[in-house]
Amino acid sequence: MSFELITIPCLSDNYAFILYNVENRSAFLVDAPEADPINEVLSKNNLNLEKIFLTHHHADHIDGLDKILEKHSAVTIGAKADIHRLPKLDEYVQAGDQLLFQGQVGEIFDVSGHTIGHIALYISAQSILFSGDSLMALGCGRLFEGSAEQMWHSLSRLLSLPDNTQICSGHEYTENNASFALSIDPKNHELVKRCEQVKLERSKGVFTVPSELGLEKKTNPFLRPFDKNIREKLDMQRSTDVEVFSKIRTLKDNF
Ligand code: ZN
Ligand code: FE
Repeated sequence: MSFELITIPCLSDNYAFILYNVENRSAFLVDAPEADPINEVLSKNNLNLEKIFLTHHHADHIDGLDKILEKHSAVTIGAKADIHRLPKLDEYVQAGDQLLFQGQVGEIFDVSGHTIGHIALYISAQSILFSGDSLMALGCGRLFEGSAEQMWHSLSRLLSLPDNTQICSGHEYTENNASFALSIDPKNHELVKRCEQVKLERSKGVFTVPSELGLEKKTNPFLRPFDKNIREKLDMQRSTDVEVFSKIRTLKDNF
């Protein structure tokens, strides 16, 4: 069996993702920011939508759902913790649960921080993580509901995934994230190189998502609060990782 991934730009800077089985055209959708571009990809590629997975309750990730379901009878799946504020779903999952799609096993992670009850889906056979607004390319989601400690805990768990994991995150924020990252980690050569690459790609309209976890580990400041140079730059040599992470998040909020 072989699978393909399609990244679908929605609204002004959101992404939805479709993973599909190339042989039988069964498709799995992650997030529903906007119906039209998603319905178009489904019909153009002759796909049968089997399941829809929602990462979290924000409008820019769920508002397209009803109009997609008008055309496709798919099983909808979301976080058990968010039953009260997600659209009516068919299946509810929580951390540690497994989710099956066409013989592929997906693993649910709790990645609370941006919201409480935010979940991510990892499909090891495809080396893909659908991270929503938790881990992003060169960034992470804002802390709307959770604490810095919660978000750092969520992100730390993702660090244990293999380096070749493709991070399918919910937004194209990479260019702005890159400028911020450079401001607190200017001596990081990998980062400097990546920022030039991102700038070039964005000038041509190329998507910078998904990105590879291995590269995020080397360049994303939100995954590196323990880094000596970042700590020196922030004058936080003796602080804990959570304290440094929290500082980085606050600086980014005001960047
Ligand atoms: Zn969000
Ligand atoms: Fe979002």
